[in-house]
Amino acid sequence: MAERQIIEPDMDFVREVEGLGGDTLKKCFQCATCSVVCNLTPEKKPFPRKEMIWASWGLKERLLSDPDVWLCHQCNDCSTYCPRGAKPGDTLAAVRNYSFMHYASPQFLGKALGKATYLPLLLAFPVILLLFLMGITGHLNIPEGEIVFAKFIPHTIVDPVFMAVSILVVISIVRGISRFWNGLKVGVHPLNSQNIISGGDFVKLHVIPILVEILKHSRFKKCERSSFRYLAHLLIFYGFIALAAVTGMIFLGTYLLGTELPLSMYNPVNILANLGALSLFIGCTIVISNRLKEKEDKSRSAYFDWVFIIMVYLVTISGILTEVTRLERFAVLAYWLYFIHLVLVFYLLAYLPFSKFAHLVYRTVAMVYASYAQREVELL
Ligand code: SF4
Ligand code: SF4
Repeated sequence: MAERQIIEPDMDFVREVEGLGGDTLKKCFQCATCSVVCNLTPEKKPFPRKEMIWASWGLKERLLSDPDVWLCHQCNDCSTYCPRGAKPGDTLAAVRNYSFMHYASPQFLGKALGKATYLPLLLAFPVILLLFLMGITGHLNIPEGEIVFAKFIPHTIVDPVFMAVSILVVISIVRGISRFWNGLKVGVHPLNSQNIISGGDFVKLHVIPILVEILKHSRFKKCERSSFRYLAHLLIFYGFIALAAVTGMIFLGTYLLGTELPLSMYNPVNILANLGALSLFIGCTIVISNRLKEKEDKSRSAYFDWVFIIMVYLVTISGILTEVTRLERFAVLAYWLYFIHLVLVFYLLAYLPFSKFAHLVYRTVAMVYASYAQREVELL
């Protein structure tokens, strides 16, 4: 006789997933069309049909320890063909959003980030912090002469604040990833003892190929319906890499070589910064315009997704406007745009472990795990 299994649904989890964009999940009648049309699923134990039933049954632990949730790239091919309008692509995205909040700490910040009512508070924090530090150091006035942002908000304010935030973010991410990895090991696709290998081999066989795959974005290309997502994601991804490299070079240049800012327009670092900003701007424009077009379509982007892409867009636009107004010598505008830009950068950085940004880290870890557990991750 088959062993009986008692299922204890977590209804709070179901409600949370519905609130994060999976509000149609209960329409699923398990026809499996979604798993058949998905180009990214492995043949054995395919997704997303099984995740749909786990989500509607409230099987939280199972979904949180399922690497398949992260192998989905939300192309929504499945949602297009779903005969019930259950939008499995959105449900998996909602489960991923729930995962950031579950694994990152402190958890109240994750909850706050998922609700529009907390947005003013989340933005008010960096505004008050920067104004306070500028006030007590006598920097609340617009400086005379050439526009140099460090005269308005000096490095002695910006660097310690952003360094402290970066350290806290790294701690939060490392703790979250460690809990996530431990969950995966005992989850839906547990590690077979024969697969366990030493550090060097693990990196060579599972980490490097996955990193190459992510750099190439080849899995994105397999999505049929939203080919634009490949281009947009690629532009945003490389835009961020360029700007992160620029930030690192400026930081090192300032402290090790005594480089004076602002850099000339023809300085290679400045050119890279402009290319990064342009790449982000085009990528975000494609994503936002397509989401607006899809309003009545099969995918529904939750507040969580919207707030992230809009913040990235605003960071990019405020950065570009700051540069333009500086070059045109509109001092008041340039200085306050710089202030707004810093506030928005703070938002993206400080809340990174709880936002779509964390996506990149969690997806990478899940893909490495899936490869390690021999979960048929097809590398192209
Ligand atoms: S989500 Fe849609 S396509 Fe997938 S099993 Fe449910 S009803 Fe079928
Ligand atoms: S959204 Fe795309 S990748 Fe994700 S399950 Fe559906 S078809 Fe597969």
